[in-house]
Amino acid sequence: MTVDREAAVATPHRYRCPACGEPLVYNEAFCKNCQEYAPIYNRSGFWLSLWIALGALGISLLLSLL
Ligand SMILES: [Zn+2]
Repeated sequence: MTVDREAAVATPHRYRCPACGEPLVYNEAFCKNCQEYAPIYNRSGFWLSLWIALGALGISLLLSLL
């Protein structure tokens, strides 16, 4: 319980493998337990491009109102 809590603090992005439920290492492309592909949201690049896309959308919406 205590170890699990410390691990959660050390890794803020904590997702589980959809295939086996094993906690995924953030930014790892594969599950270390079953070698299944990790979900796209386990990658920092996904969140980075998501925020860039949302930012671009927001700016274009703002500009279209001017
Ligand atoms: Zn797995």
